[in-house]
Amino acid sequence: MACVLVHIEATGDQPSAAALSALGDARRIATSLGAAVYAAVVVPGAPPTTRAGRANARAQTPRPGPATSTGLDDETTDRLVAALGRAGADKVVLIVSGSDGPAIWSSTGPALAAACDHLHPALILFPATPAAGDIAPRLAARLGAAFAAHAVVELGPRGEVVFSRSVYGGGYRRRLALDDLDRPVVVTLPIGHALARGGDDAELLIFDLGADRDRRVLAIAVATPAPAPPLRDARVIVAGGAGVAAANWPLLERLAAALGGSVAGTRAACERGFISSDREVGLGAQYVAPVLYVACGASGSAGHLGAISPDAEIVAIDRDPDAPIFRAASYGLVGAIEDIVPTLLAALERR
Ligand SMILES: Cc1cc2nc3c(=O)[nH]c(=O)nc-3n(C[C@H](O)[C@H](O)[C@H](O)COP(=O)(O)OP(=O)(O)OC[C@H]3O[C@@H](n4cnc5c(N)ncnc54)[C@H](O)[C@@H]3O)c2cc1C
Repeated sequence: MACVLVHIEATGDQPSAAALSALGDARRIATSLGAAVYAAVVVPGAPPTTRAGRANARAQTPRPGPATSTGLDDETTDRLVAALGRAGADKVVLIVSGSDGPAIWSSTGPALAAACDHLHPALILFPATPAAGDIAPRLAARLGAAFAAHAVVELGPRGEVVFSRSVYGGGYRRRLALDDLDRPVVVTLPIGHALARGGDDAELLIFDLGADRDRRVLAIAVATPAPAPPLRDARVIVAGGAGVAAANWPLLERLAAALGGSVAGTRAACERGFISSDREVGLGAQYVAPVLYVACGASGSAGHLGAISPDAEIVAIDRDPDAPIFRAASYGLVGAIEDIVPTLLAALERR
């Protein structure tokens, strides 16, 4: 196998926590297969130039080109490469897409596909972020690759790589062995805390697609900027369900602020308009991997719980002592949100 490629979302020189967790999984797989780990970061770079006549993407190694080619200055590039190297990457690939904006297929996918055409990775991994939900299946279709969503990586007795995912509401697991596939595989991985320890000497490659850039999309504007930090990196999440009355949501905001966390919701809460749908946690929405998850007035449906990392410590508050959430929780508080949360807040504020 030539390489395992991981899509990295980064802000400047800071890879996201979700990306580092996927790199940890990639390192484990690549070590087992004797393959190299490529960390691929799509950067906006300079606006398209008129370098006509360039038919193919090109790779430069080992130093970055001028800052304008990637949009990152040399120091930022060095810090990013070092961070990704320490997290397990053998090579860091900066792919200059020429379009700006959030990571979605239009801004990122064609550039990533062009780099994959050049590098021929056997395995392309994404942490299961909202961006991955948009990019990964389209990339698989573009490359003619197999696609597995939200799969956990297991190593078989002979070191073979097996992707495993729960199906039918968690009642069964479907396993897919990499050896059985005769094509590249694109996989989105649940976000965990599987960090790897690599060296400081990752090699840098730059793919500047030049004349091959997709010029249909040069910039993407976000109409309403997200008011809160992304859930995928949150270490503490306070989630509300249908059991939290509209008037009590400010209590959840205060609890999240007191714990240094973010507020999220179940689908039922989002559908009632208590919280915006970009804060929904669930199998049909976002996967999260906090250290602490405080579930308030959420019954604990499989669709909701299945998207919370098994490593998270769950504290549940619900007035129904038989609510399924208590079976998943480490700590349970039986009672009404409007009684328990103010008591918790008073205790936290006293400290
Ligand atoms: C295809 C499909 C995909 C889905 N994807 C998702 C998904 O991605 N995410 C998701 O969340 N759901 C998803 N669902 C919906 C999911 O099945 C549940 O319906 C939903 O999660 C229930 O949300 P809830 O726990 O907030 O509401 P409920 O199940 O109604 O629970 C409300 C809880 O609040 C408690 N309560 C009520 N009042 C109070 C009070 N005053 N104080 C304390 N407790 C109180 C009740 O005892 C109850 O336990 C999906 C469903 C389908 C069919």
